[in-house]
Amino acid sequence: MAVLPIKTFPDPVLNRVCRQVNEVDDDLKQLSQDMLDTMYAAPGVGLAAPQVGRDLRLVVIDCTPRDQEPQPLVLFNPRIVEMEGQVIFEEGCLSVPDFTSDVTRAERVVVKAMDLEGRPITVEGNGLMAICLQHELDHLEGRLFLDRISPLKRSLYKKRRLKQIKRGDE
Ligand code: ZN
Repeated sequence: MAVLPIKTFPDPVLNRVCRQVNEVDDDLKQLSQDMLDTMYAAPGVGLAAPQVGRDLRLVVIDCTPRDQEPQPLVLFNPRIVEMEGQVIFEEGCLSVPDFTSDVTRAERVVVKAMDLEGRPITVEGNGLMAICLQHELDHLEGRLFLDRISPLKRSLYKKRRLKQIKRGDE
């Protein structure tokens, strides 16, 4: 079990557009496992590769309630092929400490991706799962949920965060 350090705003790796994964080799299998360990330890419901400093199109997700059997999902090169409806949910992010905000997203999405064995996989998400998929996929485009809130709210958080970092209590 390896828990990786999580990159936080405003680390520039979080703004990078991530690279396509061509083949799931042993290193990437290990990275996915480490990302799952990191996500469960945080605890969080999703984690994208740039959050651990890797600009790769890889996300891990588990939206199962904590008192149930875990259902980890590892997705390479995920892309949304269908989206519908609208839902507003108060989001947070392991890379955006001490902040949550309402974000508007699609209520249902269908995502196509490649699984750990390199096979094509289709995932349908509703509610929390749909929100989580959209949030994590945004990370692969270098986007944070901060980019989906009002500019005023975003700049207030930015100021607060930079002060926090200056004081050294990250
Ligand atoms: Zn996030």
